[in-house]
Amino acid sequence: MQLQGIPASAGLAWGRALHLVSSTRQSESPTIPLVRVSAELKRFDAAVGQAIEAIEAIRASLLEEGRTEEADIMEVQLVLLQDRELVGKARDKILHLHYASHAALEAAMADVLETMRQHSHPQLVERAMDLEDVVHRIGRNLRGEQSVLEGLEGSETLVLLCESLTPSEAVLLNPKVVAGIALIHGSVTSHVAIISRSMGIPTVVGLGPDLQSIADGQMVLLDGTTGTLTVDPAEVLGEAEVLREAEALRETQVPRETQVLGEAGDPMSTAEAGKRQIGRVPQLPRVRGEGGRDTGRQLLSNISSCAEAATALSEGAAGIGLFRTEFLFMGRNDFPSEEEQFATYRKVVSTFDARTPVIIRTMDVGGDKPLASLRLEEEDNPFLGKRGMRISLMRQDLLRTQLRAILRASAYGNIKLLFPMIATLGEWRQAKAIVAEVQAALTDAGIPYNQSIDIGIMIEVPSAALLADRLAQEADFLSIGTNDLIQYTMAASRNSPSLRKLHDPLQPAVLRLIHQVIRSAHSHGKPVSLCGEMASEMAALPLLLGMGLDTFSVSNEALASVGWQLSLLSERWDSAQLRLAAEAVLDLDEASDVRQYVQQHFPELQQVQVLP
Ligand code: PEP
Ligand code: MG
Repeated sequence: MQLQGIPASAGLAWGRALHLVSSTRQSESPTIPLVRVSAELKRFDAAVGQAIEAIEAIRASLLEEGRTEEADIMEVQLVLLQDRELVGKARDKILHLHYASHAALEAAMADVLETMRQHSHPQLVERAMDLEDVVHRIGRNLRGEQSVLEGLEGSETLVLLCESLTPSEAVLLNPKVVAGIALIHGSVTSHVAIISRSMGIPTVVGLGPDLQSIADGQMVLLDGTTGTLTVDPAEVLGEAEVLREAEALRETQVPRETQVLGEAGDPMSTAEAGKRQIGRVPQLPRVRGEGGRDTGRQLLSNISSCAEAATALSEGAAGIGLFRTEFLFMGRNDFPSEEEQFATYRKVVSTFDARTPVIIRTMDVGGDKPLASLRLEEEDNPFLGKRGMRISLMRQDLLRTQLRAILRASAYGNIKLLFPMIATLGEWRQAKAIVAEVQAALTDAGIPYNQSIDIGIMIEVPSAALLADRLAQEADFLSIGTNDLIQYTMAASRNSPSLRKLHDPLQPAVLRLIHQVIRSAHSHGKPVSLCGEMASEMAALPLLLGMGLDTFSVSNEALASVGWQLSLLSERWDSAQLRLAAEAVLDLDEASDVRQYVQQHFPELQQVQVLP
């Protein structure tokens, strides 16, 4: 059997299929409706049963190794799980108070600890730790992380099959074991695709419900470059042939979304072509913008970890255009402390010299990046709910901690601060006022930080795009997040493969908005960056150059190919010609007309085939 999906992260994966149940299907809300109570009890009992089995297995292997002391600890945990105290109390709360399992567990644990405290239990501290441990274990089972965390070890490589995967689950994956990811849903701009690309895990999204018919343990071959998934490929091709093909393909692996024809007409990645041509990411020519302003066009990198900052440096990025800090908060049960965050931000900024820009965006959770530790109520439509700045303004304790850490790190380099999902002037002013308060507290405490740090606004909600002139007046820079801006403008989810024609950066409505944002910002002398996936869409590059975009920020994997195309375009065309082209497409009817226009007017881009 062969399924066709959408290539989201290039490369070839060969391994045994394993289905994962994603936590996205499970409720984060503390309560459940009455009709779900009996199903919730079953879910809870299954999670407890799984925990008992796992602890028994750990205990048995500890005993085998003669580690009796540790085995005794496991024994205590088993007793906790098997007696009625914790589990019985939690079941009662589900049954009578209609608590969701995770909330019932937390409440039951608090009750048990309180009883122990009242009786001055001599082993209160140790028991509290054991309790927490088993509660977390059951919690992981409930969220489906059990299989992610504990099933994915061993010598065989696996290809994960799932309906969808949250970014917090994706960051927990071990790329040594997880060779590939195959999703029923998802799209190239979904966060899980962005993460799998940055982790280098071949991924295909939008494979459809047939994925469910593949059994666990079947051998599959996943091709993240063409978007195909072949089940039992050895049966069709013979194992030796598959392995030979796999090896050959791995050697000539075509990365990412674009291919360009090499001299002999063979497909070669634009990244490869770019590297062969100039060795490293080219320095973009400095182009004079409106009124002779030096736009200092730059190509920066999008990252979500320290490791990616080092790769950005070695790949030749001119800095970091977007550090998605929310990933520091994911895959854990607590929030990172100020010290932990400070250490991370300092390490990232210290990777570069003191003048290199490093744009750090405050935590942008919500939407398709839920954060279990926030314990927010379930929403009908999370993308139109509490997200990004909205959550930070609700949880100012978290925002202030993060701001302190970022500001302290700003003493070590050229950090710029960026706020996500701003929709109104009020939100922006509130955010800025909180920055001023945190700055004042640091000054009072004599803690060094960059007092003239640049502060920018993500333009990813249409209201912010329409208010760009007002926002630009008060901000130091704007950064357009097209992944979200397109989905909110076109009312087409960034995660829906069937709506790709609508979620298209070349939609005239999207281009008009972007054009307006850039013009508004420039009229106030403020630079504009674009850090959505659109900045690595080849057909969009001449248009963005023509609109006068100052900074392109792309994933590390796209740096070389985008850099190469940008320098080629800037060399061949002057800014007046590019501007005319950018203005001409604003009057076209459809995205397909824009694409055709670009192909006709920029023949050098015809070499580039955008996949798919
Ligand atoms: C965007 O929306 O384009 C963006 C860069 O932010 P994220 O993809 O993290 O939502
Ligand atoms: Mg966004």
